[in-house]
Amino acid sequence: MTATNSSEYKGIWVFAEQRDGVIANVTFELLGKCREFADKLGQKLSAVLIGENLEDTAHELIYFGADEVILADSPVFSKYRTNPYTDILVELVNEYKPSMIIYGATSVGRDLAPRVAARLKTGLTADCLDLEVDDNGLLIQTKPSYGGNIMCKIICPNHRPQMTTVRPKVFPMPARDSSRTGEIVRKKVNIKEEDIPVKIIETAKEESKGPKIEEADVIVAGGRGLETKENLKLIKELADVLGGTIGVTRPLVDEGWLPPYYQIGQSGKTVKPKLIITCGISGAVQFTVGMQSADVIVAIDKNPDAPIFNVATYGIVGRVEEIVPELIKKFKAMLNK
Ligand SMILES: Cc1cc2nc3c(=O)[nH]c(=O)nc-3n(C[C@H](O)[C@H](O)[C@H](O)COP(=O)(O)OP(=O)(O)OC[C@H]3O[C@@H](n4cnc5c(N)ncnc54)[C@H](O)[C@@H]3O)c2cc1C
Repeated sequence: MTATNSSEYKGIWVFAEQRDGVIANVTFELLGKCREFADKLGQKLSAVLIGENLEDTAHELIYFGADEVILADSPVFSKYRTNPYTDILVELVNEYKPSMIIYGATSVGRDLAPRVAARLKTGLTADCLDLEVDDNGLLIQTKPSYGGNIMCKIICPNHRPQMTTVRPKVFPMPARDSSRTGEIVRKKVNIKEEDIPVKIIETAKEESKGPKIEEADVIVAGGRGLETKENLKLIKELADVLGGTIGVTRPLVDEGWLPPYYQIGQSGKTVKPKLIITCGISGAVQFTVGMQSADVIVAIDKNPDAPIFNVATYGIVGRVEEIVPELIKKFKAMLNK
């Protein structure tokens, strides 16, 4: 593979993921981080917005830090489909030649970014947990590797654009500033519905009770120390009393106790609640990378040497089935529930 001429490529792009006109929070988080890069490098920060009827939505991206929004607005983009999104993004890259494109590591970002990377014959680092840029505009991408046991820093020195996906909640949400102004560049779309092989016949929304795990302020997380599936009810009750939701470690998902939606960690979700209470979780790095930026971590484990106590703000040594009912009783009394 021949190297691309890096000097032709300038500007930082964030792929602005949206669903039904609602921008995914991760987009704003990425704009906040990339604003720092754009200021450091003296380059333009662009949000690339693909969808239908998004004129108003486009301004939000400027309020959150973009200098410009490149808007591809067409009925063919009304719902995410891999082929037309890849086609238009590749077309835009070939036209504008950005130096880097950052995507959320969501189901859409994880589907789209590899397709675009393959078409453009450039690199892609998936699921990053941190990003930096050096003075020459080289993106330094940090991600867990070798089963999560080490953090790798990855660069893409010879090909452009540099591309990466970053998990939601890795970067803080920037402040919205409605006094910011910027340009909206409207791209003419020539893709025709009849040329798209995939048709969406029906979409079904998953009904969920309580806050989404990625957005919850309080999470009560259970691990193998719950010992029985029945004890999931205990952590659910504590989560309900605190107005939160539950999460679990991977072994419980592997056992089929709960679907992967609830898994926290390297191969699960990254969460950033105000409070997480871990119940019978040893604290393997593959779990802690997904929750260690919680404001307060309370760990309950019967083993005083469990590694979870190294990341915990408060530790309770004891058995889950004894401690959790006590906490439920105490919080119910405190909160008059
Ligand atoms: C590539 C890769 C990706 C992975 N991704 C993830 C991931 O995304 N998320 C994830 O969670 N794991 C992931 N893992 C698995 C991870 O390495 C650990 O195996 C897992 O996190 C351990 O889960 P656990 O803490 O529930 O179980 P254990 O490690 O078995 O810990 C159970 C804990 O419960 C305590 N305990 C037992 N009984 C009680 C009781 N009655 N009361 C109180 N405490 C009790 C024990 O002292 C122990 O500390 C991944 C592994 C690999 C290789």
